[in-house]
Amino acid sequence: MAREVYDVAVIGSGPGGEVAAIRAAQLGLKTVCIEKDATLGGTCLNVGCIPSKALLQSTEYYSLMNHEAKDHGLLIKELAYDFSKMQERKCQIVQSLGNGIAGLFKRNQVVHRKGIAKFVSPNVITISDGNNINEIEARSFILATGSEPISLPFLPFDEKRVISSTGALRLEAPPKKMIVIGAGVIGVELASVYNRLGTEVTIVEMLDHICPSNDAAVSKLLLQILKKQGIAFHLSAKVTGGKVEKDKVSITVELEGKPQQFNGDVALVAVGRRPYSQGLGMAEIGISVTTKGFVSVDGFFRSNIPHIYAIGDLIEGPMLAHRASEEGIAVAEIIAGQSPHINYMAIPNVIYTHPEVAALGFSEQEAVKKGVKVKTGVCYFKANARARCLGYTEGMVKVIGEEKTGRLIGMHIIGPHASELIAEGVIAIDRRSTLEDIVRASHAHPTLAEAIQEACLIALGRPIHS
Ligand code: NAD
Repeated sequence: MAREVYDVAVIGSGPGGEVAAIRAAQLGLKTVCIEKDATLGGTCLNVGCIPSKALLQSTEYYSLMNHEAKDHGLLIKELAYDFSKMQERKCQIVQSLGNGIAGLFKRNQVVHRKGIAKFVSPNVITISDGNNINEIEARSFILATGSEPISLPFLPFDEKRVISSTGALRLEAPPKKMIVIGAGVIGVELASVYNRLGTEVTIVEMLDHICPSNDAAVSKLLLQILKKQGIAFHLSAKVTGGKVEKDKVSITVELEGKPQQFNGDVALVAVGRRPYSQGLGMAEIGISVTTKGFVSVDGFFRSNIPHIYAIGDLIEGPMLAHRASEEGIAVAEIIAGQSPHINYMAIPNVIYTHPEVAALGFSEQEAVKKGVKVKTGVCYFKANARARCLGYTEGMVKVIGEEKTGRLIGMHIIGPHASELIAEGVIAIDRRSTLEDIVRASHAHPTLAEAIQEACLIALGRPIHS
């Protein structure tokens, strides 16, 4: 059995592991990245963020041509879609980005090893690729093995009738009727894809509101908009049972205290994700995990075995690709003896519906719960000239400032290009800027970003355009 020796061994090549490996190598550490799958990039690139955004874009164009082209004087006589072409385009994007990671590894001298990693001792892992088993010894390990979809005990995934996000991204054709269990990020994004293609989509959600991590005003408005787009919702509706019949799936939902049946061609289960560390041998070498299976780490991402670090979805915190990447850079720098810092308040959270939703910092409800006195400002896109020209007038920007200092502590956007607009808030929160700082900075006219400036003016009590 061959044994290779490294300074750092990174397990997992998703947005956490990939970035950690590149940064570690850049800092002069001899680095290997081990990936069990045939392609690099992890969940985000292969079965998550990227393929879903590719399908969201294709179906958004279709929906715009279907419903809004005529408002622009565009007369489309015959409009149809080719779903297999959409899927092919999605696969090409995923493949080219995966090749890009392989190129980056080469350029940065990160060694890539394919296979399943398993600890045999705190300093040695075996890598098995089905044929051969090799050993890797390293001074430090970074665990970045990510997460997997949670299934319901009575409705296991078969990826045909009962599908996870992975199955939903690989359907051969849009189903006639889809039931989506869970109105979180995955639920509303994938419901949007299929609703736009004509699938009859019903979402059942246990809570009385959707996208629970968002500001209440934003979540309420998103619900209204998605309903208007044709998605049916049942809130305060807990799924308590379900079964697959010959060519359909039927689920039992507790609605107003009574059980009700819902049928569909497929049921997408989107009730959250859990950390994934199967086969890694963590228990055998004594790595501590929480009751939910997250690796317990200190402020330096160290597990109870100090040279074994963990980042991303494998540790507690919002499951976001860009958060994992931040942690990947930080952990590599820590191993190299540096003192990086991550400002978790300045990590945005985006939902790629149409319109998009972007959240940053405290929601108003969180700030009030923490006893922080706030001033808030809301600017609706219908009052924004660029939004009018684009024809995207739904939505708003809500800013939350700390009353005492005037500092921006939260920004919540539902509207066109929210995912891009939130970057202004990220820099403002990271640099501890005030609402006044944002107001004093020039915003080009006409732009959507002016809505951020106006929301701050409203919070300061001196609106110009509202
Ligand atoms: P989620 O936690 O966002 O939402 C799950 C929803 O399911 C919740 O609203 C919950 O109340 C509901 N639910 C749970 N059990 C239920 C039941 N029995 N019946 C009815 N409803 C039930 O989880 P998700 O949407 O699966 O996403 C998983 C993770 O992936 C999240 O942490 C998310 O941040 C991440 N993700 C992010 C993006 C993005 O950044 N755009 C996209 C996809 C996923």
